[in-house]
Amino acid sequence: MGIDGGDEKGDRRDTVRAVVFYGDNDPLSKRGAISPEELIEVLDSLYMLSPIPFELIHEIEAYIYLRSKDEDQLVQMVDSLFELDTIHYAYIDQINMYIASRSEQNVDPYSSIMIPYEEPTCTTHSIYGDWNTQKPDAYKPDLSSGDSTLALLLCDPTQNCNYHTPFKGVMTSKFGWRDGRNHNGVDIDLEVWDPVHSAFSGVVRFAGYYGGWGRLVVVRHYNGLETFYAHLHRFKVTSGDVVEAGDVVGLGGSSGHSTGSHLHFEIRFKGIPLNPSNIISFKEDRPISDTLVLKKTRWSYAAIPMGTEFHNVEKGDYLHKIAEDYGTSIGEICDLNGISRRSVLRVGQRLRVSSE
Ligand SMILES: [Zn+2]
Repeated sequence: MGIDGGDEKGDRRDTVRAVVFYGDNDPLSKRGAISPEELIEVLDSLYMLSPIPFELIHEIEAYIYLRSKDEDQLVQMVDSLFELDTIHYAYIDQINMYIASRSEQNVDPYSSIMIPYEEPTCTTHSIYGDWNTQKPDAYKPDLSSGDSTLALLLCDPTQNCNYHTPFKGVMTSKFGWRDGRNHNGVDIDLEVWDPVHSAFSGVVRFAGYYGGWGRLVVVRHYNGLETFYAHLHRFKVTSGDVVEAGDVVGLGGSSGHSTGSHLHFEIRFKGIPLNPSNIISFKEDRPISDTLVLKKTRWSYAAIPMGTEFHNVEKGDYLHKIAEDYGTSIGEICDLNGISRRSVLRVGQRLRVSSE
């Protein structure tokens, strides 16, 4: 495989990589036909490279593993993941996405159940029914067991769309399975004492020190979502406080399990972490769509902004080509789909290509 080991910089190198990994000359592009033995040969050759592309290797290994399982086996596997002390939602999410991409299920937002925007009765929001100020992660899996497809009105349309970016900074870590560990949110770089803002309006449910999160604020929003702000240095709110979008909930820091000051930001629905990048355009400081469609899979939710355009991956597709066809960039597609430039594309996979 002609993988570049050169020193080309920036976009060009990324483009070269993407073409190498996804292009016509890439054995992986004939993924539908490639045998497990051939994939293992590819893996072996990757270990010969310097530096060894571990991220790609892990993805191919996961792909080989998942491909060898039928749906029942995958179901069992995820069930066993739920029995671990720490539930790896992001990993489960990726398996869910894989299962969803194997079936031809499309989301019809118009047949979905609208979640009520409940102001000011947030503390007794009908979808939660309880109000726990002692535990950030307060919900049992059965809370979401009956859900199918739901739609959330993120902002009250009778008002201005009230959203505020928690902190305007560089995203240093995305949601998902990263570097062999689970990441239930996104990390945004900040300096200690920088103000951290509530993303939407709502009521503070939890403000306290809790495990690896360190100083953590959890806000339950009228729209049904909950947001988590972790590793804070100081609190600016206490549980029960009513906050508007943009109100300062705390000052950034490095408390809990954290290397260097940053904001760890999570968005959850019924306790299940969603990919914030599927909901918010951090580049444009706004929700991707006023309405968020949540499709319940067996264990999690796929969060899809209403009006999203998809591309069905076909044989011979590669990121650079898809990006050009839709007038977007590889980086944009990676952000929208929570994939890396080296992610293995699968024939039939649905990729978000625009957020409008
Ligand atoms: Zn984090």
